[in-house]
Amino acid sequence: MALIVQKFGGTSVGTSERIQSVADKVQGFREQGHDIVVVVSAMSGETNRLVALAQSMQAEPSPREMDVLLSTGEQVTMALLSMALIERGCPAVSYTGSQVAIVTDDVHTKARITHIGTERILNDLRHGRVVVVAGFQGRDEQGNITTLGRGGSDTTAVALAAALKADECQIYTDVDGVYTTDPRVVQDARRLDRITFEEMLEMASQGSKVLQLRAVEFAGKYNVNLRVLHTFQDGPGTLITLDEGSAMESPVVSGIAFNRDEAKLTIKGVPDVPGVATRILGPISKASIEVDMIVQNAAEDNTADFTFTVHRNDYRRAVAVVEQIVADLDARGYEGDTKIAKVSIVGVGMRSHVGVANQMFEALAEEGINIQIISTSEIKVAVVIAEKYLELAVRALHTVFELDREPIDDEGV
Ligand code: ASP
Ligand code: MG
Repeated sequence: MALIVQKFGGTSVGTSERIQSVADKVQGFREQGHDIVVVVSAMSGETNRLVALAQSMQAEPSPREMDVLLSTGEQVTMALLSMALIERGCPAVSYTGSQVAIVTDDVHTKARITHIGTERILNDLRHGRVVVVAGFQGRDEQGNITTLGRGGSDTTAVALAAALKADECQIYTDVDGVYTTDPRVVQDARRLDRITFEEMLEMASQGSKVLQLRAVEFAGKYNVNLRVLHTFQDGPGTLITLDEGSAMESPVVSGIAFNRDEAKLTIKGVPDVPGVATRILGPISKASIEVDMIVQNAAEDNTADFTFTVHRNDYRRAVAVVEQIVADLDARGYEGDTKIAKVSIVGVGMRSHVGVANQMFEALAEEGINIQIISTSEIKVAVVIAEKYLELAVRALHTVFELDREPIDDEGV
């Protein structure tokens, strides 16, 4: 018998039939003797519909009123699910975030949780009730309704699991787990049985489609065992955990992440003297443009080329800033490239293995793919390549690091 927090996303509760299926599922867990707290999202499409309604009233809707409006989506689902459970003879009670109380700061539309009251929930559980809580919302110290940012129901679930010291936080969604890479690019991509919080965060571009990354960070901080599962297909899903497993079990590379979100800018022939990096990146950050990768190469003539990447959406603005920098520094000029892609290999196993980066570079060389930028962290090696080689690169790396193969199962021996 365990205390489990289960979160059902928008598509899982997208129709009344689906809410009924979720109720069947929850009732099944209850009958196994578990204590269940359910966190629900709004029915799929509902939050977007409410946002559009708000914008038809006010070009830039008042954040406070926006939160009052958006919190209603989850409130509908929580009541419907409770009704479906009660109809099945399963005692249930629903609460808004405010009623629980999920207390947040007062930053409307992206509030952060500061405190959770658990008394009410624990009391209901003691009386054998399933507790259904509206995701994505809370209230500030003054009692104003707040919301946690889009996708915030994941965070509600993790925060509740942490506060209740739940045995597991299960995120039910429309995929059956976290994959070694995007199955649309590599057919042989495999569902991972487990992945660490760190790896999940590094897998960002792939992982964020499955889970709100803020929820992963939160789970890591409070060591909440998090499991991603398919709502309507049985299976073990993927466990996201602090535990790295034994060195024998853990593969060197757990997954391959990639994105096409970045663009590259190179300022050519800047003076190779102290202070140049900040004279370039200072104005960029002043323009609120976030920089990801940075490289500088010095030439023999006391000049250097300075390259960095930004989000593609910021590219035009970055070019405008760079034109000014070129003039100010009396540089030779600049080049920009939006047709790049970033590919990363991720794995905690890299900590105990040498030569992993080189294995990656070798695989790319064999495919004739030129590496433009490299960056590394303890558990990740990322490269920038031409966008047209992205899929080739991901497939080659997936094979080289043996991600198509089932890992050796200790227990099966
Ligand atoms: N309903 C909210 C959204 O669509 C929160 C969530 O689903 O997690 O962003
Ligand atoms: Mg979601």
